[in-house]
Amino acid sequence: MRALVKSRAERGLWIEEVPKPTIGINDVLIRVLLTGICGTDLHIYEWDDWAKKTVPVPLVIGHEFVGEITEVGSNVTDFEPGMIVSGEGHVVCGRCRNCLAGRRHLCAQSKGVGVSRPGAFAEYIALPMTNIWRHHASVPLEIAAIFDPFGNAVHTALQFPVLGEDVLITGAGPIGLMAAAVVRHAGARFVVISDLNPERLKLAGEKMGVTMAVDPRQKSFEQVQRELGMQEGFDVGLEMSGNPTAFRSMLANMSHGGKIAMLGIPNQEMSINWNHVIFNMLTIRGIYGREMYETWYKMTVMLESGLDIKPVITHRLKWHEYEQGFEAMRTGACGKVILDWRE
Ligand code: NAD
Ligand code: ZN
Repeated sequence: MRALVKSRAERGLWIEEVPKPTIGINDVLIRVLLTGICGTDLHIYEWDDWAKKTVPVPLVIGHEFVGEITEVGSNVTDFEPGMIVSGEGHVVCGRCRNCLAGRRHLCAQSKGVGVSRPGAFAEYIALPMTNIWRHHASVPLEIAAIFDPFGNAVHTALQFPVLGEDVLITGAGPIGLMAAAVVRHAGARFVVISDLNPERLKLAGEKMGVTMAVDPRQKSFEQVQRELGMQEGFDVGLEMSGNPTAFRSMLANMSHGGKIAMLGIPNQEMSINWNHVIFNMLTIRGIYGREMYETWYKMTVMLESGLDIKPVITHRLKWHEYEQGFEAMRTGACGKVILDWRE
């Protein structure tokens, strides 16, 4: 089958012919229909320090996908050929304390699809049946393709109650944009999002229903608060940029007792003013991945009850046009980029 392979320990990603995966008795084989390009895939393409440490070569990469089941192992009874599914990108060990307790998202030994085991940028992918989410018929295919990052957004956005609260989101990348729509849907009062990229701010302001989309170089969060008539700071913060400056200004603009969910991955150590955390009694919670499968359930029912994240998809390309997709990701002049494998 054809696949996009990280076949050499250097910058780039290459189309290659690789063996079609074979399945074990507990596995499911899926024909890939659509995939999303994630920031992680860009790191692997660029072959940065994180990728060098993490990704074994050669490896088929990619983890955001929707596909159709073509074959199931002999132990599999819940799924059958023809079903439209996505895969949870973290394959857990099943045996650690957290896994045994049902807290699979906290597994200490999880493996990443398309990061440390074969991924979805291919005609087929094989996964354990415990990693399969069957989509409701109501979910559009291209939204199903991005359930993985949508799940990051939902899992982060719903960490703390947002009904009637004022929410600050730093970073209007695809995940920040989706999180904005989610907290709006979940009943937040003010939703303020920041980014440095004018196209992403425009998308946030015009399509995702935010109260204000700000470039922090032009307007401080203190000024935003004044303009909105806020006096005591934001109740909930969603850090989705990985940028130290953004995080520090979020810390300085939280209300006493404010709560921060941190998804953005800083690419270096970062110092903060701990006095903000201590004297303002802030809670900071690290977020990784999604909950299996509560987040998947929530995504589905929020879509069914009117949540619209479609505007976050800005590029629809054929799989072999992937270079164009990665280039859009590199410049940041995009929301979500979808690759179509149906040919
Ligand atoms: P992204 O890189 O597309 O978005 C980050 C955005 O932050 C960009 O638009 C960038 O312009 C913006 N930004 C940079 N500096 C800023 C500043 N000073 N103030 C405000 N915004 C600033 O990434 P994404 O795909 O939307 O993901 C969001 C973050 O979450 C990334 O850091 C990513 O690595 C991380 N992530 C974490 C997990 C997890 O499980 N913890 C999963 C997926 C992604
Ligand atoms: Zn485990």
